[in-house]
Formats: sequence, C-alpha cells, structure tokens
Amino acid sequence: MADCAYCKANAQLFDDGVPTCISCANRMALEMDKRVRVTLVQDLVDSHARAARKEMRKAHSRLNDFLSRGIVPEDLKQAGGR
Ligand SMILES: [Zn+2]
Repeated sequence: MADCAYCKANAQLFDDGVPTCISCANRMALEMDKRVRVTLVQDLVDSHARAARKEMRKAHSRLNDFLSRGIVPEDLKQAGGR
C-alpha cells in the first residue's frame, strides 16, 4: 500500500494515479465543492451587476432622449400609461 501523497498516511485510493487517503480525498472534495460554490455565487453577483448597468444605461438614454429631443418611449405613450 502506498503512502498518501499529501499527508503520508496509508493511501486507500488513487486519485488520477496519485495515492490518496480517505481523509485527504474528502478534504479535496470539500475544497472543490467550496470553490465551485464561490465561483457560481460570484458569477451570479457579476451577472446582476451587468444587468443593473445595462438597465441603468437604458433608463439614462430614455431620459436623455426625452429631455433633449422630446422622444416619448413607446411604453409610456399608451393612454392610461404611467
Ligand atoms: Zn492523506
């Protein structure tokens, strides 16, 4: 039985050919889980920021068009509109 490549305990399994003990395998699985989770949450936060910036640009240009050229946005033209 080979020694674990990380902590030198008895390796019970081989992770991609690297002798690994159960506790190191568990630890790495948890780290991977954490990394994936952090990345996904960060992606979500980034996508919200991007969407917010896009909405802000759109609102800004609608106001600008109205103030500088009197263009009323289509969705505000209907009677009974806001
Ligand atoms: Zn180990």
